[in-house]
Amino acid sequence: MYIKTPQALCAGDSAGNWYPRRFIHGVPKMTFDVVVIGAGAAGLMCAAQAGYAGRRVLLLDHANKAGKKILMSGGGRCNFTNLATTPQHFYSENPYFSISALKRYRPEHFVELIERHGVEYVEKAPGQLFCASSAKDVVRVLLTECEWAGVEVRLKTQIESVERQGEGMRLMTSAGRIDAGVVVIASGGLSIPTMGATGFGYEIARQFGLDVLPTRPALVPFTLSEPWKSRFAELSGVSLEVSVSCREKQFREPMLFTHRGVSGPVMLQISSIWQPGDTLMLNLLPDEDVATTLREARDTTPKRQLSTWLGERFPKRLAQALMAWYASAQESRPLAQYSNVELDSWAARLNAWALKPSGTEGWRTAEVTLGGVDTAAISSKDFSVKALPQLRFIGEVLDVTGELGGFNFQWAWASGVACGQAC
Ligand SMILES: Cc1cc2nc3c(=O)[nH]c(=O)nc-3n(C[C@H](O)[C@H](O)[C@H](O)COP(=O)(O)OP(=O)(O)OC[C@H]3O[C@@H](n4cnc5c(N)ncnc54)[C@H](O)[C@@H]3O)c2cc1C
Repeated sequence: MYIKTPQALCAGDSAGNWYPRRFIHGVPKMTFDVVVIGAGAAGLMCAAQAGYAGRRVLLLDHANKAGKKILMSGGGRCNFTNLATTPQHFYSENPYFSISALKRYRPEHFVELIERHGVEYVEKAPGQLFCASSAKDVVRVLLTECEWAGVEVRLKTQIESVERQGEGMRLMTSAGRIDAGVVVIASGGLSIPTMGATGFGYEIARQFGLDVLPTRPALVPFTLSEPWKSRFAELSGVSLEVSVSCREKQFREPMLFTHRGVSGPVMLQISSIWQPGDTLMLNLLPDEDVATTLREARDTTPKRQLSTWLGERFPKRLAQALMAWYASAQESRPLAQYSNVELDSWAARLNAWALKPSGTEGWRTAEVTLGGVDTAAISSKDFSVKALPQLRFIGEVLDVTGELGGFNFQWAWASGVACGQAC
């Protein structure tokens, strides 16, 4: 593997073309069997596999570093897979598309890879595997694999055009012209533009006549309008396990109050379902039928204050806030003084609290992109465009998006391996 400046990697001729040094005396232009665009999770994996399959591989990226999203993922520790991966954990217009690749490259395969490289990992939540130390370990593994497979990695390179050239493809780049047998687009989705995300893959898809399904940010925190924005801002940092449902999908995980609204795993998950205008139904006490337990509490401990009852179930700041929001100026009263109607109102707000977000934080903080290149035109076996097999799409640029918990990386690895081995 070479990660080099243009001068070190290649030599130019009088016409301004540039060639890899090893081709100077033979081939009068830069030619590779496989050019992978995007040195992220899917591209690194694909390039290594194609290299091991005996192909001459060039991996290009416009960023100054490979695997930037891997480095920032999982709070810097990369939730690199989920042992429970099945196609049911992915959103796509075609729910069957992911089956083949996910079946062939399973979480255990990636675990075996990082174990071989001596990376330690932990299961932070059931099935969710994270690096024990740092996400840098995953990037190191992938770059080492590329090196061993003879892949040339070239960063800080702008792709100016991608054209069909007979049975192959021709790229014009900021470093010159490159001919390739196969071009793999692994340029990811639109989330976190400051990390190098672009709509490049969608533009290429459209250029070659493929459909791109509408994209929207997912696994993203919600924003709220007043008065809830200010109320939640005061609780910023408070977290509790809740269940939340929207459009017949339900998740149960921790929720986090933030300065702008709500986040935490449960909100990120439901953001993939939520559409503007939808209301979220929150159950703040998913293990309790509050209408029943409040009546029982009133019967057995009539002198207990409602605020005490809430304080036993919620973080202190939230219990106090609930009293302030819903008991208005009234002082907390003993449970005996609450009517059935009042208790039922409390049950409704605790077991079925309707919250209407004003929006999401958008691409700036979204972890993934829903939608993307329509899989209808893509082979689920080798990820080639059916009508143009020398062009391929892998990873997040495709209309395949995982739930939170390591599924998105597993898709990047699986699609990268399936494509790379078939290049
Ligand atoms: C903050 C954050 C945390 C995340 N945490 C997790 C997690 O813990 N577990 C999980 O499974 N998933 C996580 N994800 C999602 C995961 O990072 C992505 O699904 C995954 O990286 C997609 O891999 P990819 O290779 O398809 O795209 P990417 O990893 O995004 O790679 C795309 C590459 O293409 C390059 N590129 C883009 N445009 C161009 C262009 N025009 N020219 C040249 N190169 C270009 C980019 O620079 C980038 O290197 C997280 C995402 C974010 C943003």
